[in-house]
Amino acid sequence: MSQLEVSAMRPAPAPALVPLATLIGRELRGEKVEKPSIKYGQAALAKKGEDYFLIKPDCLRIPGNSSTSFSVFAIFDGHNGISAAIFAKENLLNHVMSAIPQGIDREEWLQALPRALVVGFVKTDIEFQQKGETSGTTATFVIIDGLTVTVASVGDSRCILDTQGGAVSLLTVDHRLEENVEERERVTASGGEVGRLNAYGGAGVGPLRCWPGGLCLSRSIGDMDVGEYIVPIPHVKQVKLPNSGGRLIIASDGIWDALSSEMAAKSCRGLPADLAAKLVVKEALRSRGLKDDTTCLVVDIIPSEHFVVPPTPTKKPNIITSLFGKKVLNSVNKSTNKLSSVGAVEELFEEGSAMLAERLGKDFPWKTNSELFRCAICQVDQPPSEGLSVNSGPFFSPTSKPWEGPFLCTNCRMKKDAMEGKRPSRPSVTT
Ligand SMILES: [Zn+2]
Repeated sequence: MSQLEVSAMRPAPAPALVPLATLIGRELRGEKVEKPSIKYGQAALAKKGEDYFLIKPDCLRIPGNSSTSFSVFAIFDGHNGISAAIFAKENLLNHVMSAIPQGIDREEWLQALPRALVVGFVKTDIEFQQKGETSGTTATFVIIDGLTVTVASVGDSRCILDTQGGAVSLLTVDHRLEENVEERERVTASGGEVGRLNAYGGAGVGPLRCWPGGLCLSRSIGDMDVGEYIVPIPHVKQVKLPNSGGRLIIASDGIWDALSSEMAAKSCRGLPADLAAKLVVKEALRSRGLKDDTTCLVVDIIPSEHFVVPPTPTKKPNIITSLFGKKVLNSVNKSTNKLSSVGAVEELFEEGSAMLAERLGKDFPWKTNSELFRCAICQVDQPPSEGLSVNSGPFFSPTSKPWEGPFLCTNCRMKKDAMEGKRPSRPSVTT
């Protein structure tokens, strides 16, 4: 994150310490950037009725403080029933937020998000599986704070970013066994069988699936009846948009089986978000027909009108500020070469490993002030005798460091081992 954003979020410095001329200068240089506004639209066509979505435009980082607002948008595409999708929609946000330490500033909060998202996804999965239901769901979960966009996803519901100049980028990775070689190798190495449906004893038909269960996805939330190597650990990507903002298109595979990222972005450029969402769904329907649930969220992150173009540019001339959101995108598109270098998307974080230990890191706050240890996943305090560190190896291993790094309770530790193929069975179902 830039200094500009950080300074915008902190309390204004005491006037006595900063000369008025300096403050005015900052204002003119656009340092005191207002939060961009968010406009969104949603459209859907149901075939099976298993798509769910979440729109929460006014969340608060600090309760009661409206200057700490952020927005959440998510899509959950359920399979083998709807209960996992509904459960994730109702619980995932809370589980992510409860994994973020209290009393930290905005910059620290943004840095804590990727790990909190991993924790939230895994916790939601464990809780849902304890209900003993067999359905599963994809989850594509987007958090927008100012110009910083953080996306966590499992499954094949995609989130794309369209920025000024017509550059379309993918913020998610498709966890489909058919298309993801790395995931195929991981699932096979963990004990899963990957192959095509073979109903008549001849050549396999349809996409690659994982057996038992026959799921086409390599990651999901739920899916009790498929091996635990179908993990809920999300791919996480965090980017900072250029000052010109950008448009996110979040949609279930009903859209992406019909349209490429570029086609989806192109089909609705220049239109307001609500109309854009409808048009993307219509375009998908036109090219493929209604074969699957089709859900689309379009979110425009539009720079504030108050944003001031720097009169004396420090680096490059910022000539595209505040153009985004007006119906000029197609004409702007023609001068792509000139603009693309100015309005670049800054990548802040990206990690897709399916190994929990790699995702939690060693500096995770894991010890409470008492003799208790707090589980990094379910956040429950326990005596140290009840669990193990995420990094502890096999018993008697000379390299084992049982107390280093985040601590996991027995149940979450079992889940971790199962996801890595070290245990054949699921964690005990508490009834
Ligand atoms: Zn736990």
